[in-house]
This record gives sequence, structure tokens and C-alpha cells, in this order.
Amino acid sequence: MTYRVTLIPGDGIGPEVTQAARTVAAATGVDIEWVVAEAGEVAIRSKGTPLPDDVLDSIRATRVALKGPITTPIGGGFRSVNVALRQTLDLFASVRPARAIAGEGTRFPDVDLIVVREATEGLYSGVEHWVDRDHSAAETVNVITRKASDRICRFAFDLAVREHRHRVTAVHKANIMKTTGALFQSAFQAVAKGYPSITADERLVDNMCMQLAKKPEEYDVLVTTNLFGDILSDLCAGLAGGLGIAPGGLYGESIAVFEPVHGSAPKYAGQDKANPVAEILSLEMMLRHLGEAKAADRVYRAVWETVAEKKVVTYDLALPGYTDRPVPPSSCSAMAAEIARKVPLVDPSTPLPRRAGAAGKGPGIDPNLET
Ligand code: NAD
Repeated sequence: MTYRVTLIPGDGIGPEVTQAARTVAAATGVDIEWVVAEAGEVAIRSKGTPLPDDVLDSIRATRVALKGPITTPIGGGFRSVNVALRQTLDLFASVRPARAIAGEGTRFPDVDLIVVREATEGLYSGVEHWVDRDHSAAETVNVITRKASDRICRFAFDLAVREHRHRVTAVHKANIMKTTGALFQSAFQAVAKGYPSITADERLVDNMCMQLAKKPEEYDVLVTTNLFGDILSDLCAGLAGGLGIAPGGLYGESIAVFEPVHGSAPKYAGQDKANPVAEILSLEMMLRHLGEAKAADRVYRAVWETVAEKKVVTYDLALPGYTDRPVPPSSCSAMAAEIARKVPLVDPSTPLPRRAGAAGKGPGIDPNLET
């Protein structure tokens, strides 16, 4: 069958990394008709708005999209296209797996956790104002509802069951935010009662950051509110090897949009330099969502082998300071071509090699792999 998928190339490095994902998608043999829809800076130039209606209409029609990052001006300027997209399409669950790939670029080769972030409310509700005319004070309202908290916690536990995960940890700040934090906490506790086979526990967000910096491999699924989830998912991306390899999926009741955790990295735009893996692993998540698990397994394995082999990798996986095995950096398109070349050749049925001495979940690096 042919899948119709909306493709939003986005800003900065977005067009390069989405093109890389298309190259890999073509190698899977899954028949995808890409419906290209422009949002962000390019849409401002052509249509006068960063999020034209036809983008939303396209996603409503196809029900699935692959997206590149979109620039959001800091302070003034237009409201975030990413936030508007999530709120307008009610994409309430942002799912960001943080998996070390082949033990590369990380001090934590066994890290394998998933951050589930509520993506429609909290401090991203857009309810904010200056308190006085002098702009000497300002307020941003943190909107937390029982409905959205209940929905995201249920999503996290269902995901844990589906993915054979054993533990869901709620992250909040209920000791200080006695209403909003406590509401999220009580929704979590109520939902957890329905999943007796999953260990449910809680961490205050500050303590969670310290725990993650020390022993991230002990955590499994984290569920949290919008701002904490944004921050924690970048932290976890860094623990697992960097923004260049961190994918994401945004799920609503019937629509899903897949995008990397990283932004538009304007300083690398047009240089064919950015790591395409985060966008390619977002494609992997999309293929799973479409029910194409075998193709998704091939994509993951081809990425894993390319990273582990380390012959054709971008600067962030190649240079001293990022790795103890420096190699000459390759371009974004060369790395994508190498992953695409491997897609039909890999054998996902064989277990991933483990790093010597590795413990716990997740793949590790094979000490015998050629370097
Ligand atoms: P960023 O993720 O774009 O870049 C931060 C740094 O991380 C880069 O300078 C680069 O060193 C590195 N990096 C990021 N992606 C990489 C890749 N694929 N390969 C190699 N290195 C990579 O974060 P930023 O600079 O804070 O944000 C830039 C713009 O992107 C802002 O306008 C921000 O609002 C936007 N943004 C969009 C999204 C989204 O569309 N979902 C997400 C985050 C940020």
C-alpha cells in the first residue's frame, strides 16, 4: 500500500536532514507519497505566516507527518510554530527516546529511557502578560488540568506496557507548586493504580536532574509536564550521545507528527554538515507508527551499524572531544547515503553486539568491530 505522509522540511538544517530521511525511507521499500508542506521562515516569505492553514489541512488529511525543525524567534516575533502545531492538532504526548547508539559519544553507553512530555498546556499555554506599563514585571500562567494530566500519565503507562518497560517515574515540583504540581502528582498516582505490573515512583525535578547525571541507566520511562519535559529531553539526549541522534514523536488521538529533538541549528544551515540520525530515527518511529516494524528495525540497525563502524559519520560523532576514536568527519548526505546503503543489507534478527562489560538495558559497542 502507499502511505501519504506530510513532509515539513522546516528551517535551518531542516531541509538537509529531512532529505536525508527521505533517502533512507526510499531504501526501505515502503511506498511513501510525500506531501510537502512549507512552514516556518520559508512560509513567512511565500505566504506571510509561519503556519499556513494548508499545512494543518494536509496533516489532518494524511494523519501523519515527518517534520524538520522550525526556528522560533527569542523574546518577540511570531509565536512558536511548534507549540501552535501541538496545540492546534492536540498532539498531547511528546515522546523522546534517549538511547545510546553503539556506546558512541556518551559516558553512559547503557542509557535507554523514554521521556514522555505533556505537550499542550503547562507553561506553554501562551497565557502571559506584562503586569505594568513599564514592563518591570511579567507573569506566565502555568495551566495544568486533570484531564490532560490523566491523559498523559495513561499514555506513559500504556507505552510502558507496549514496550515491555518496567518502571514509570513521574517528574514534578509538587513541593513548591502546591496546586499545579500536586494536581499532576495526584493524576499520576490515580492512573498508576490501574497498572499494578509497572513500578510507579516519583522524583522532584531538581533531584531527577541530579539522578540522571549520575545514573541514567536506572530509569526507564519518565512522564512530566511541558516545560520540565522540554528540559529533561534535551538533558537525556545529551546523556545518550547528543542532539544529533535524538528523535521524537508527537502523538494525538488520531494524528502523529515525528521530528527530531534538536532545533534548526542555523549556524550549520546549508553546509551539509548536520547529523541526519535524529531525523532518520524520527522516520524509524514513524514507520513503527504506520505498522512497518520490519522496515523500522532495518533503519535502526543500519543507523546502529553506521555509527558503530564509524567510517562515515558527521562531525559530532567524529571529532576529538566527542569521541575517543576520532575519524575524518563526513557530510550529512554522505552519512544518509551510507545508512540507506546498509538498510537492505542488515540483519535485524541477530542480537546487537554488546560492549565489553556492559550491563543493563540497551545496545553496546562491539569491541571487535573494525574501526
Ligand atoms: P539547536 O538544537 O538548533 O542547536 C543547538 C546546537 O546543537 C547546534 O548549534 C549544534 O551545535 C548542535 N546540533 C543541533 N542539531 C544538530 C545536528 N542535527 N547535528 C549536529 N549538531 C547539532 O538549538 P538552538 O540553537 O537552541 O535553536 C535553534 C532554533 O531552533 C531556535 O529558533 C529554536 O526555537 C528552534 N528549535 C526548534 C525545535 C523544533 O522545531 N522542534 C526544537 C528546538 C529548537
